[in-house]
Amino acid sequence: MQSRGPLAIVRRRLRQAAGRCLLLLGVLFGWAAPAGAQDPAALTIGVLRFEPLPLAQQRWALVERALEQRLPDRPIRWRWLTLPELREAVATRAIDVVITNPGHAVQLQADEGASPAIATVVRRVGQDTLQAFGVAVLVRSDSPLHRWADLAGRTVATVDAQAFGARRLPEFELWRRGISPSRVTWLEVKGNGHEDTIRALLSGRADAAVAREGVWEALVAHGQVPAGLLRVLERQDLSDYPYSVSTPLYPEWPVLTLPGMPEEVRRRLAAALLDIVPTDAAAGDVAEQVVGFVPPASYASVQRLLRELRAPPYGVPTLTWRETVRIYAGEIAAAVALALALLAAVAVLAWQRQRLRQLLREQALLAGILNSGDVGVLITDARQRIVRVNRAFTAITGYTASEVLGQTPRLLSSGRHDAEFYRLMWETIEQVGVWQGEIWNRRKDGTTYPQALTISAQRNRQGAVEHYIALLTDATWRRQTEARISELTYHDGLTGLLNRVGMRERLSETVQDARRDGAIGVLLIVDLDRFKDFNDAHGLSRGDALLCEAAQRLRALLPAGGEAARLGADEFALLAPPLRHDRATAMDAARALAQRVLEALRAPFPQADGAQLALTASVGVTLIDGQHDADELTRQADMAMHAAKAAGRNTVHFFDPRQEAALRERLDLLQALGGAIAHDELRLYCQPQVDAAGRRVGGEILLRWQRGDGTLVSPAQFIPLAEESGLIVPIGTHVLRQACATLRRWQDDPALASLRLAVNVSVRQFTQPDFVDTVAAALRDSGIRADRLELEVTESMFLHDLARARQVLERLDALGVTLALDDFGTGYSSLAYLAELPFDIVKIDQRFVARLDGGTNSGSRREQAIVRTIVTLGRQLGLTVVAEGVETGQQADHLVALGCHVLQGYHFGRPVPLADFEAQARQPQTPATPA
Ligand code: C2E
Ligand code: CA
Ligand code: CA
Repeated sequence: MQSRGPLAIVRRRLRQAAGRCLLLLGVLFGWAAPAGAQDPAALTIGVLRFEPLPLAQQRWALVERALEQRLPDRPIRWRWLTLPELREAVATRAIDVVITNPGHAVQLQADEGASPAIATVVRRVGQDTLQAFGVAVLVRSDSPLHRWADLAGRTVATVDAQAFGARRLPEFELWRRGISPSRVTWLEVKGNGHEDTIRALLSGRADAAVAREGVWEALVAHGQVPAGLLRVLERQDLSDYPYSVSTPLYPEWPVLTLPGMPEEVRRRLAAALLDIVPTDAAAGDVAEQVVGFVPPASYASVQRLLRELRAPPYGVPTLTWRETVRIYAGEIAAAVALALALLAAVAVLAWQRQRLRQLLREQALLAGILNSGDVGVLITDARQRIVRVNRAFTAITGYTASEVLGQTPRLLSSGRHDAEFYRLMWETIEQVGVWQGEIWNRRKDGTTYPQALTISAQRNRQGAVEHYIALLTDATWRRQTEARISELTYHDGLTGLLNRVGMRERLSETVQDARRDGAIGVLLIVDLDRFKDFNDAHGLSRGDALLCEAAQRLRALLPAGGEAARLGADEFALLAPPLRHDRATAMDAARALAQRVLEALRAPFPQADGAQLALTASVGVTLIDGQHDADELTRQADMAMHAAKAAGRNTVHFFDPRQEAALRERLDLLQALGGAIAHDELRLYCQPQVDAAGRRVGGEILLRWQRGDGTLVSPAQFIPLAEESGLIVPIGTHVLRQACATLRRWQDDPALASLRLAVNVSVRQFTQPDFVDTVAAALRDSGIRADRLELEVTESMFLHDLARARQVLERLDALGVTLALDDFGTGYSSLAYLAELPFDIVKIDQRFVARLDGGTNSGSRREQAIVRTIVTLGRQLGLTVVAEGVETGQQADHLVALGCHVLQGYHFGRPVPLADFEAQARQPQTPATPA
């Protein structure tokens, strides 16, 4: 009883206490009837049964009667109980004597204090009287199972998990052979005892069946199982034992008494049992029967078996956790400490792993950053050995990482910088920690390039340099961009010449050179004449092409060190460097340059349509003598240019301080002219024209500007201004419409209806794209006869573009207006124009008329010849020939004699206000008298 667990003890104590309580209650109320309670002499015998009750009663009937006979004074009650019932009965002390299997008996002795066996049961099976038993493991004869070990993994039918013979014995045999009983699948067949396990085998539900000795033999004997169908596994050859078994034999069931039985009663009972001698037993037809008792056998083998199987009562009790802790405190503490240490180690490892991953990720990120973008990175150690470069570095320098690692950055130097440059650079890095700048380096392919470079020193905590980090970008592109920006800043996009800003810069430098050297340079401002008209007529792209060509020509004229610029739309500047030391030679050089400018522009500009165009220009000149700054010089040259314009264009003017005042005045005038129409300051004057007989045939409208203060301004003064500024267009339209309105009025006046009115048309007006429309509208709106309106144009209108001029004239001709070619004989007069273009009238310029003094000197004769030629040609072409500027009767006579049709001049009348002209015209027609 050495290893009874604390639980078993507690359980037993509880049962004993419960039993005592019941006993007490029974005594108090007189009904609960535990063993012998009613009759102190009575005995209750509890017998384990594993078969149906009637069968059990049959098995025990013999000894029941025998005992009754031997203890006549003691009423004996037999109870056949299943194992649970029996346990319950023991616990409640409902029985006094127990007959059970040896395993259970050992358990009762240990747990319940049952007595040692007082007798051992003897059975009779068939003809045999047995005091021991074993079990047979049956398999089919053809089964591959031969040894106990073969049962591992098989299904074995048995009666009950608690059964001693049918379960513990086979378990022990397996155990002895080193096979855990749990490797067998135990099929529990409850019901009619061991026969049913054999049926389970036969039906195939199990691979083997456990049966008590003799069961199989009986079935065979009764013909229920064919002989030879089954065999016994590891069959034992036991002498004196008639049955086939697979296990050793164990003593038959013992008889035990439970505590509390008086010694005397126990002894009498034992004697009575032993007195039932087996041989006495009468055999009946019962197959198996208890037939008597013998003195108790030794159950040591049973105890050993249970102990080895750790079966109750030797089963290892489950320890409570408190007990476990108490018993294993030391080990648990050690294990916990170890587990904690392991846990800590795992945590540390996991943290380090995490940290390592993080570092790797960061490193990958940094590497990614390093290799993205186009900034080259170069890292050296403290000794300037290259330890790392990125992809952009390779892209910029052409060197791969493997080619430069371990080298020094000197590998990259171009040799363009001297030792002093590098010394300063390194000094800055040492002192400031960083150097920034641009440096020329050499690529692997040998080309040099500008590089924007930042070098910084990385120091450790002690302040010692650990690394140098260089960030480098290829500055070529930046340089180019800078150059491009400067190009855009200082140059004209169209012609590639300097622009106004660039010229100002250069001019400032030249002024300084002049001052320093005491030399004189030249500044020319060249303004193309009537370029705006060309643009208006031909479109911007042809205008641009013309400007480019002009720019080329001007550039070609430059002396060495000179500079050309485009200052505005059609305004250029030429700068000649200060070379000459006296004013006069400088002037000569300037004049020569200006003349070459005019000539260069006069050469024809071939046009896409085959036309040949020539340009004229107005050139202003000033000398650069170091006295005036760039702005002042530009202003001077500009003024001179305007003076040239005012002087009739296609000419050169030198800056003259005295002109300044006049120019200023001119500008004031121009400003005032802007408001002339709005303020109704324009007056239409009219000068009469007469025929050879002196009859008034019409007049020419001549404009006057009557300013606010009443002064009259001559058209010779303000018309060029109006032309230049473009004001001539609205002014011209105004005059045109006034003239038409006048003709409309005259139309209904018999004295005036036949008169024609001539209107001067300027180049600017003529080249307006809508000029013809303007004329047509004026005609339509007034409703006059078109031929009453005479338009005077000059040859300058054909200079730019003859084809277009012809087109305009033809359209005007188609409108029916009278067309006159004014100032004929000046400019580039070509008689061909007269023949080709649809003119009705040619007006001989007054210069020729003035020299017709009728004398015979050579000058006069030449003029006469010219006039005669013009008249003759005009007449031949069917034109009306008009002479203007006729101041004397002599001139008039002469002209009439030469064949002129119409005369105009002071001799016949000065220009007068229109109203006066009308008044004169209404007077009775008399040959005009000199004014
Ligand atoms: P033009 O068309 O040649 O006009 C003739 C000029 O000669 C006029 O000068 C007139 O007064 C002047 N004249 C007439 N007879 C004589 C004479 O016997 N002797 C002298 N010495 N001169 C005489 P004016 O009125 O000063 O006009 C000057 C110029 O102004 C004109 O020259 C014309 O080209 C221009 N002009 C005048 N009015 C207009 C106008 O409404 N529109 C345009 N576009 N130009 C105009
Ligand atoms: Ca005229
Ligand atoms: Ca004229």
